[in-house]
Amino acid sequence: MNKPLRPATRLLRAGRPHQGWVNTPVTRASTYVFDSVQAWRDTRARREEERLPSYGARGTDSTHALEDALVELEAGHRAKLYPTGQAAIATVLLAYLRTGDHVLVTDAVYEPVRRFCSEHLSRLGIDYTYYRPDGAGVAALIRPNTRMIYAESPGSLTYEMPDLPALAELARRHDCWLAVDNTWASGLLYNPLALGADISILAATKYLGGHADVMMGAAVTNARAWRALERATIDLGQTVGADDAFLVLRGMRSLPLRMAQHARSALRVADWLMGRPEVARVLCPALPGDPAHAIWKRDCRGANGLLTVEFSDRLGEADVERLIDGLRLFGIGASWGGFESLVLPVRLDTCRSLPDAMRRGVMARLHIGLEDPDDLIADLEQALTALSPVSRSL
Ligand SMILES: *Cc1c(COP(=O)(O)O)cnc(C)c1O
Repeated sequence: MNKPLRPATRLLRAGRPHQGWVNTPVTRASTYVFDSVQAWRDTRARREEERLPSYGARGTDSTHALEDALVELEAGHRAKLYPTGQAAIATVLLAYLRTGDHVLVTDAVYEPVRRFCSEHLSRLGIDYTYYRPDGAGVAALIRPNTRMIYAESPGSLTYEMPDLPALAELARRHDCWLAVDNTWASGLLYNPLALGADISILAATKYLGGHADVMMGAAVTNARAWRALERATIDLGQTVGADDAFLVLRGMRSLPLRMAQHARSALRVADWLMGRPEVARVLCPALPGDPAHAIWKRDCRGANGLLTVEFSDRLGEADVERLIDGLRLFGIGASWGGFESLVLPVRLDTCRSLPDAMRRGVMARLHIGLEDPDDLIADLEQALTALSPVSRSL
């Protein structure tokens, strides 16, 4: 009896040719030609159910290889690829929601999704309600026309985690889809589909690509949810180029190694930050004091490089901006999941709709990259020391 292969081994074997080249060659393609009209007709009849080459937008060997690896990672049925994570989210919302429907959206949703809701769901007559990112009180918000619960776990910037199996149970009882943005875990640390979700969404731009050199999104579904997504993806003309698919798949080969190092370094930096008088709190579900820690421990297999730092209320917004400007090894920029460290100021008042039970001070989000963590700590130390008039008063 062969033992089932462990996840890291399966990830290295997924999306590869059965023989010959180790990697699937890059197939840049639009037109696929057939031997006969009958062969062309036959492929068109079968291509919704089977994965056959028929036209570049519907997939090439390169995109199919990446889809296979993502299906392996997420333990799903099938996957579709999008030019960005945001495009994956927009397509998922449009695929399953119709005029007159209602969707429950986590209040810790990736911020650009909020405008998609207010501009586009509204315009289509689709109603939405934000629920608490830890899932508290969500059952009471279900309406007869609620068709989807949209979660992000852990949530953007503040990393709250809902009890996903409980959300899945609620969704099933009310005949709703459960869609989860799984970008934080990038498929490696958390499996929404195994916990009962129907659709898992990934910004492959982040850790899957892993090198800050490619944009991509993906959605992986269970069997029940597949057909609606496949059709909407084609109808909306969503596809990706072969070179980008190749880059993401190449990044995925080292995903477990990179993620483990990001997490190790992030936890070291978090420990150091928590010893500083300028820091009130560090948000990260892997830290024992974090509100999401118990669920993270139950449902996740590790952490990543993200930390959100809440500063002492003695530091104002201008101090924190000065601190950020003073950092030398942290780039000021969007996204995360590449090899490099990044920092951005965080303003929760512009990206949350519900009142927050916990008063929060000025914040910054750090992405801890693959640099030596001692260098990152030294950089943070010099930037904090440069704020010395404030620091000395603490
Ligand atoms: C970055 C991000 C996205 C969007 O990905 P893009 O490829 O930048 O469009 C979606 N969800 C989450 C949680 C993200 O962090």
